[in-house]
Amino acid sequence: MKFQPRASHFIDGEYVEDTNGAAIEVIYPATGEVIARLHSATPAIVEQALNSAKNAQAAWAALSGTERGRILRRASDIMRERNYDLSVLETHDTGKPIQETTVADATSGADALEYFGGLAASLTGEHIPLGGGDFVYTIREALGVCVGIGAWNYPTQIACWKGAPALACGNTMVFKPSETTPLSALKVAEILVEAGAPKGVYNVIQGYGDVGASLVSDPRVAKVSLTGSVPTGRKVYAAAADGMKHVTMELGGKSPMIVFDDADIENAVSGAILGNFYSSGQVCSNGTRVFVQKGIKEAFLKRLSERLAHAKIGDPMDEDVSFGPMVSENQMNIALGYIEKGKAEGARLVYGGERIERDGYFVQPTVFADVTDNMTIAREEIFGPVMSVLDFETEEEVMARANDTEFGLAAGVFTNDLTRAHRIVAGFEAGTCYINTYNLAPVEAPFGGSKMSGVGRENSKLAINHFSEMKTVFVSMNDVEAPY
Ligand code: NDP
Repeated sequence: MKFQPRASHFIDGEYVEDTNGAAIEVIYPATGEVIARLHSATPAIVEQALNSAKNAQAAWAALSGTERGRILRRASDIMRERNYDLSVLETHDTGKPIQETTVADATSGADALEYFGGLAASLTGEHIPLGGGDFVYTIREALGVCVGIGAWNYPTQIACWKGAPALACGNTMVFKPSETTPLSALKVAEILVEAGAPKGVYNVIQGYGDVGASLVSDPRVAKVSLTGSVPTGRKVYAAAADGMKHVTMELGGKSPMIVFDDADIENAVSGAILGNFYSSGQVCSNGTRVFVQKGIKEAFLKRLSERLAHAKIGDPMDEDVSFGPMVSENQMNIALGYIEKGKAEGARLVYGGERIERDGYFVQPTVFADVTDNMTIAREEIFGPVMSVLDFETEEEVMARANDTEFGLAAGVFTNDLTRAHRIVAGFEAGTCYINTYNLAPVEAPFGGSKMSGVGRENSKLAINHFSEMKTVFVSMNDVEAPY
């Protein structure tokens, strides 16, 4: 099998196998073909990975930031050199079109390694004068062993978004990819070792949720960073709380995108396409509740349908293809189930709405109009190519409806009224907001959610605070006064 890795896990600088672990079949979503067979981590493998990360941590943290940063930046260069091969692997792991994976996966991972590699040397504490010559200084310290747990939609990116800031701060990591997409994180681990990362600094073990759970509850672990759904986030957060561990939670969403009647319709349609159909709709920050002001609703829907007709659906390895399959049969059935609910609850099907008759797990890009706030498709995260278009009349009304959700990951507004745009964004209950654009996530900017969508932020300098802690040191230059 062309994509079969040398072994299932990567621990202490090398590939490791334990065939006693439950079988994991890796399936190419475009054909349903098995492209690799792996094994879930046994307790012995979990033990080995945690020991390796624990043993490597002190020496890694003792390197200078410049030295750690150099290794991360070298890894970034290697990832860029191998972008095409890594993208082919990512396309087979996830089903995403090669047109996307060559620009949004290994390249995004490389950006994170480069950015946090660049920051590593500048991570310092501060000096705080107290008067009379006394002072405090702070030392920014690594947390220790960090666990990363990933979802299946952006496996390379998630492995790097968690690994790069963790390693820059002097932590070591055990990363568990989703068992649906286990292949690319192994490549990230290989590349880090090739770039000079000492053994044990970045380990990858495979497994189902139980493996993630055993990592989270282990006392050697200081921090857990999860990308996943809200129900999993709740479980992981609770397990981490028991050991008072640090957490970052990047969870799901049901984000609003508001289009006012003064917006540039072409840009708004582009934003809605990017925010609903890129990666076949399997993006956490998608703006799946598209509120369109009544006066332009039909014009918006007409233009959207015309543009969707140009989506090239097919073999994701074909460079012209812009819309691929969903990641798995299971995820496809979830999306199809929501489409049926949309029809049954009375939403108007404007585009798509069916499985595509070919091998693999293809669902048509689907648009429902006349969706109301209480319909299931407007309330629950679908994580598939299903857009809900809702009408609105006034700014006040749409603001309240946009925020009427337990989620708070992202939100966007399209308007040419400058003051209204900023007023709307100020009112959004969401961590990541967009004005006249949608779904950007460059490494320089903080990314993450409010409310049930998460805790903490990834990317940007803020991520450093989530992977390090401050030690405060009081220094007296004077005699110590005591009452007796
Ligand atoms: P899941 O929540 O099902 O799984 C996420 C990861 O957690 C998987 O690796 C999973 O393993 C693991 N896991 C499951 N149960 C436990 C547990 N009890 N303890 C520890 N780990 C566990 O999410 P999906 O993989 O289905 O991904 C889709 C979700 O991810 C969507 O809700 C989406 O919105 C969200 N997401 C959020 C992003 C963000 O940045 N905010 C970005 C991308 C996705 P296994 O798969 O083996 O069960």
